[in-house]
Parts: sequence; structure tokens; C-alpha cells
Amino acid sequence: MNNCPSCGHERSKTETRCPECGVFYPTIAELIAEEEAYEAAHSLRGRWQKILDAPDRKHALLAELKQWWAGLSIKGKFSLFVIFVFVFALIVTVL
Ligand SMILES: [Zn+2]
Repeated sequence: MNNCPSCGHERSKTETRCPECGVFYPTIAELIAEEEAYEAAHSLRGRWQKILDAPDRKHALLAELKQWWAGLSIKGKFSLFVIFVFVFALIVTVL
């Protein structure tokens, strides 16, 4: 990151806080922790872990699926539909 995350002022490597707005630059450790938290919240494994840790797993799984479905675009939903139809047609012709 070469700019201040708060105001966008160009930062130098030696400074620990922004001379423009005074905000402290995040350290490498903070950036890594942030990245890991993001990973945990958005990766498949992190989501799976969240479901397994939930007291009501069935409910947590449904909530995750609902969130996943809401995050899909129309194009994504259509692609899934086409895949399902294709697989179904394949099974029917084989049987
Ligand atoms: Zn700044």
C-alpha cells in the first residue's frame, strides 16, 4: 500500500502515520490479521467452520445457503440452472 488508507495521501516507507490526516498506517501484522479475518469470513472452509461451530447447524447452513444465493447474480443463477438441466438431461438419456 503506497497511499494513506484514510485520505489517499502518498505515504513514505519510513513514516508510521499520515502527515496529512494523522491516521496511523496499519502495520504488516494488522494487514495479515485483516486478511485472515476476511479469508475466514469469505472462504469456503471458513464458512464451513462457521456452520460446524454454530449451535444450530441446520439453521446456520440454511442461512449460509440463503446468503450465497442472494450473492449470486441473475447470470450466475441462470448458469446454475443450465448446469442442472444439462445434468438432468444426461441422466435421463443414460437411464
Ligand atoms: Zn491520510
